Amino acid sequence: MYDNNNIFAKIIRKEIPCESVYEDKKVLFFNDINPLAKIHILGIPKKPVINYREFISLKDKDFVLYFFDKTLEVIKNIGLDKTGYRIITNDGLDSNQEVPHFHIHILGGDNLGGLK
Ligand code: AMP
Repeated sequence: MYDNNNIFAKIIRKEIPCESVYEDKKVLFFNDINPLAKIHILGIPKKPVINYREFISLKDKDFVLYFFDKTLEVIKNIGLDKTGYRIITNDGLDSNQEVPHFHIHILGGDNLGGLK
């Protein structure tokens, strides 16, 4: 069950600050507090969904598409479409997902090496 007190829910409610990159009524993109690359942005939908499975299963497919369209917009706005980027989402025990609100990591700004 979705935990309304997870840290990203608090960020959405403005109870905790973040370094916003893009925000509107439906989505929020902000800098990761512990960046793993020169550019490390997190993207979250403003809906109570825990992981990718739940997000993709939303009945409102327009919303799902909106989120990924905005992801590309953010990527283009900071020029990562020219230099390259990596998108990651963690789900479940083996992935070590820390925050139980669906999010994507957008990494770039430098050569990212291999996946490991
Ligand atoms: P995950 O392991 O996929 O759940 O990733 C959670 C990410 O959230 C990690 O990369 C953290 O550094 C990041 N994070 C945790 N708290 C905050 C915060 N208050 N502001 C920005 N990023 C955060």
